Amino acid sequence: MAGRGRRRNRVAGPGQRTRIALVGRAPRSRVRSARATASPALRRRWSLVGATSAPCRDDDHDDAAARRGNRRHARGTSRVYRQLAGSQRLAGALALRRKRLDLSSGESVVSLDPPHRRKNLLTGEWVLVSPQRMNRPWQGERKSTAAAARASHDPDCYLCPGNLRSGGQHNPAYDAVFTFANDFPALEARETSPVEPGGFFQEMPARGEARVICYSPDHSATLAGMEDPQRRAVIEEWCRLSAELGARWDHVQIFENKGAMMGASSPHPHGQVWASDYVPTLVEREDACQRKADGSLLANVIAAEDEASERIVASNAHWQAVVPHWAAWPFEVLLIARDDVRRLEELTYDARDALAAILGRVLTAYDRLFLTDFPYSMGWHGAPHALGEDCAHWRLHAHFYPPLLRSAEIRKHMVGFELLAETQRDLTPEAAAERLRRLM
Ligand SMILES: [Zn+2]
Ligand SMILES: [Zn+2]
Repeated sequence: MAGRGRRRNRVAGPGQRTRIALVGRAPRSRVRSARATASPALRRRWSLVGATSAPCRDDDHDDAAARRGNRRHARGTSRVYRQLAGSQRLAGALALRRKRLDLSSGESVVSLDPPHRRKNLLTGEWVLVSPQRMNRPWQGERKSTAAAARASHDPDCYLCPGNLRSGGQHNPAYDAVFTFANDFPALEARETSPVEPGGFFQEMPARGEARVICYSPDHSATLAGMEDPQRRAVIEEWCRLSAELGARWDHVQIFENKGAMMGASSPHPHGQVWASDYVPTLVEREDACQRKADGSLLANVIAAEDEASERIVASNAHWQAVVPHWAAWPFEVLLIARDDVRRLEELTYDARDALAAILGRVLTAYDRLFLTDFPYSMGWHGAPHALGEDCAHWRLHAHFYPPLLRSAEIRKHMVGFELLAETQRDLTPEAAAERLRRLM
């Protein structure tokens, strides 16, 4: 009992303090691997009382000894977990936790999950998960934040049909999806003077082009609020741009910043595409992780998430939307193609129809979460076009990174420990997925 691996985790609920001890001598890595192979039901119970992994001892198989230690043992798996808290007090804390799990109620959340780290399989980075921090008191939990009604045309909006853009051009009177070259592009197609090689500091030339995609002539529209055929038209444009720009650039990054909180320069529904003559850092990292995986990494993720089911937000024949096991943002969603496609332009028409439908469901749930026009950054990751046909390890997917944590006003900030050490989150991905599912 007094072994090296003994850890204590205090969990405080209002008016009471329950102490839970995690016992064992196994290193954390073994705990993690045991967690990964445990059944979903066992993992859920585990997360409530803590878990450890240790070599089986004889008394682990002794029913009487197990009863004395209030220990439940999964025979043959070398997994032991022990609940040392008073059962009544623990039950009370669990009931409180269940009662307070509803984030939109504005109440705080009580969690008994101990801190742990999860690995992002797409980047290789670790994320610190600290669910017990959801127990701390919060102020200003929630305000009524129903999206303010916007006019369908804003004479001051530089993206509305017919209006003057800041670059000096007038938009045409477009009546569908409209794409134009960004007036202030981050990348330019023109040749630049070569960078002198050598030296201590490194730099390289960067060329490309950037465009803006207006999803609709309607200033008040959103991807979430559109009908499927309108969303389908946006998807068609994404696919067209990926093919057109991918024919001459190494990577095509399609993305959307929605909401002032995420730096969107206009509330008009729009996204962007930046194509570059190099593969950007994060895409390169995802390429490396998928390339070294055993089989298709994201096909394996789909299979594992289908089996676990607790992190799936929405699903259809062509797509799986999941809060990934390693999610860094509170309500992050990974949308993965079930078909073996590597780039947007490879999607069949059926898959594009199914994408319009699942996008509508996920984005509507986002808006319902805090009764607000939910801000996010989202973007597509397909195989970089620089890879040509050498991309069997890739699977098309989109990331959604919404910043909101507890209300339309309370957002997550990537600061402090996260800037200096490692990404950290409080709410577990499982709880976030459950919350989103309930809003479908
Ligand atoms: Zn507008
Ligand atoms: Zn990705």
